[in-house]
Amino acid sequence: MIHRERVIPPRYVYPADEWRMVEKQFYPRFLARYETIFSTANGYLGMRGTFEEGAPVFENGTFVNGFYESWPIVYGESAYGFAQTGQTIVNVTDSKIIRLYVDDEPLYLPTAKLLHFERVLDMQSGTLDREVLWEMPSGKLVSIKSRRLVSFQHRHLAAISYEVTVLNAKAPVVVSSEMVADPFQSKEAGEEDPRRTRGFKGQVLLPKVNRAQDLRVLLSHATSSSKMTLACGIEHVIDTECSYTQESQSSENSGKVVFSIDAQPGVPFHLTKYMTYHTSRSAPPSELCERAARTLDRAVGEGFEELLAGQKEYLDDFWRRSDVEVQGDASLQQAIRWNLFQILQAAGRAEGAGIPAKGLTGHGYEGHYFWDTEIYLMPFLIYTAPRIARNLLLFRYSMLDKARQRAREVNQEGALFSWRTINGEEASAYYAAGTAQYHINAGIIYALKKYVDVTGDREFLHEYGAEMLVETARLWRDLGFFSKRAGGKFCIHGVTGPDEYNTVVNNNTYTNLMARENLWYAAATVEALRNENPEEFTELVDKTGLDVSEVDEWKRAADKMYVPFDKKLGIHPQDDAFLTKAVWDFNNTPRDKYPLLLHHHPLVIYRHAVIKQADVVLAMFLLGHEFSEEQKKRNFDYYDPLTTGDSSLSVCIESIAACEIGYLDKAREYGRYASLMDLADIGGNVRDGCHIASMGGTWMVIVYGFAGMRDYDGHIGFHPRVAERKRRQLTGLQFPLRIRGQVLKVEFGQESVTYTLREGDSLVIRHEDEEIRLSPEAPSAVRPIRGVSRRKRRAKRKPRRQQKRTATGIEE
Ligand code: BGC
Repeated sequence: MIHRERVIPPRYVYPADEWRMVEKQFYPRFLARYETIFSTANGYLGMRGTFEEGAPVFENGTFVNGFYESWPIVYGESAYGFAQTGQTIVNVTDSKIIRLYVDDEPLYLPTAKLLHFERVLDMQSGTLDREVLWEMPSGKLVSIKSRRLVSFQHRHLAAISYEVTVLNAKAPVVVSSEMVADPFQSKEAGEEDPRRTRGFKGQVLLPKVNRAQDLRVLLSHATSSSKMTLACGIEHVIDTECSYTQESQSSENSGKVVFSIDAQPGVPFHLTKYMTYHTSRSAPPSELCERAARTLDRAVGEGFEELLAGQKEYLDDFWRRSDVEVQGDASLQQAIRWNLFQILQAAGRAEGAGIPAKGLTGHGYEGHYFWDTEIYLMPFLIYTAPRIARNLLLFRYSMLDKARQRAREVNQEGALFSWRTINGEEASAYYAAGTAQYHINAGIIYALKKYVDVTGDREFLHEYGAEMLVETARLWRDLGFFSKRAGGKFCIHGVTGPDEYNTVVNNNTYTNLMARENLWYAAATVEALRNENPEEFTELVDKTGLDVSEVDEWKRAADKMYVPFDKKLGIHPQDDAFLTKAVWDFNNTPRDKYPLLLHHHPLVIYRHAVIKQADVVLAMFLLGHEFSEEQKKRNFDYYDPLTTGDSSLSVCIESIAACEIGYLDKAREYGRYASLMDLADIGGNVRDGCHIASMGGTWMVIVYGFAGMRDYDGHIGFHPRVAERKRRQLTGLQFPLRIRGQVLKVEFGQESVTYTLREGDSLVIRHEDEEIRLSPEAPSAVRPIRGVSRRKRRAKRKPRRQQKRTATGIEE
């Protein structure tokens, strides 16, 4: 039997609290990890959870989504069509620094005597709050209270409310509110770990404008190679009865406003600091500075309380649309909410940009957009925030020309979306695990189809989707071939599937199945347009030069798609060669040699049967209707022991698959790993940023896993499974789904599930094999959860030895 040391058992260190992440004590040991966990962001702007004092710090990261520097990729040995230009998100001007000196002594947490320390990320108010009580060697007691937010309502704006009070004495206090740019991006690079970011060789940020006047400072920079522009501004409002003086200054890469206060015992000095960021690919620095000034004027006019109220309003709406409520387990509730909150922080206001693999919480993976967005995050967004989902699809559409260009560079017709990118160009310097992942095309189309099926937004399909469909279908038709050896079947060779431990393979089952969907959907959409919307069809032909004979070719390729299947084992081989490989020696691989990619040459990994992340198992989830129950079980049994879970994208999918086939203990264990991926630092690299895909995966574990939702072609059905929790008892679970403008609430009790139409006129869903019609007259339906009562009844009726497991795991 294969023994697998797949992941470190989760160690959860946060006090259970349903709405807040709380740090009760300053833990220098967890500094790097907490910077990520306590990040605040809105999808456009992100700030790591570093302290206002600026030190101690692991990485003082501030990021603007899509603001990157480009650099020439230098290959030791280049080849035709290799990606030429790298892109890396830039750590922009850090504006949140507020240094504090009392009696000229700086507050420095590691050495300060702290009588009280508490830091809270509040997911209802959208703020990061900190309270510190500092006892100085002189006996002076200093209270510091701060509240930070990155505004969801005003995407260019962040603010800090900062209050310092010397409680028991008079003292000279200096508050220095600063902003600092790091032109050389001096953060140490992680060249040995491909998941981290590369270091830059030269100067990245070139100073353009610096201006300090009264309580305001503006700094502007341009990136040296990508020629993007950035303006960052700070502004202050003071509220105090202490007397103070102020002085502001700026230089090329820094600026500050320094307040010298004559602090009186018990009298607070209160500072509100507004911070703004504006970025552009074309606007000159002077114009961005004007925009920044306008944002600051407006912020001061509205005030911090207004900003707080707006933040709360935005979050109330988010939770109303998206909350997954669990009863009976506060830690689980906290973990789920934190995952959903982080998706919002990564995507909420990412207008005109994508979702970086780490959100805006760190510069791991260089701020790149991958398929993570479409396959892992889009389901949650489609069902809870369709407007954000649409924006993201529109953003992909805006990259279509670059995708066309990329297809030409790799000698194909149609369009090939870049595996990892910020500006649309391929930024992966390792083609085997990069460009070769052609399946990203099908992933984008899969998300497009789900979006259209679930929202009913056919306008989007016609206006933008159809063009993407034509070009991606062309790519597949051109990439594959009808193989004589395979009996005339359509084969796709030389690709990498989701599993990056088996690269450049022939007939990756996942890719072939997903490409087939892509081809079918393209053909159906074009035909429907042609028959029903001749005008739009003509426009499409104009835009793409489509010849109708192409559509027949797409259908022929799809209908004849080769889907590998091994009759003897009754499984779908991951690819043509997978079953021929020697199985990885799991027994002699100690835990510290995972992830394998950091300890073994790629060739060693590639020649073994070992899997980084769900591949066939992912196909079984996304296209479950193409597999029989028996096949699902056999595939899972075969691939699960070979899967390392070295990618955070794996365990959520395995949980969903395990749920479906009735391995509920395993499903629960994997689901727990997914939900704690970052909170328990399961991958050991949360310091570099959150694993955003796994957060979308956590939502999917609940909705597609335990609630057993399936939504092929927009037909919504549920096959709920209840995982009995061993120690804590989960007494209830509920979540809303927005389906074609209507709102369905799904509520689980311990033995039954209730479906309620909260908004809308009529919705047809399925529960197991039954069709249920919900309407305002009959808004609710209650159904027993299969397995629960039956299991209980049967346990009473039959002696245990007569029970046998079926493919669904229900004992009969
Ligand atoms: C995974 C990819 C994923 C990327 C970014 C890699 O480790 O193998 O599937 O897209 O991380 O999250």
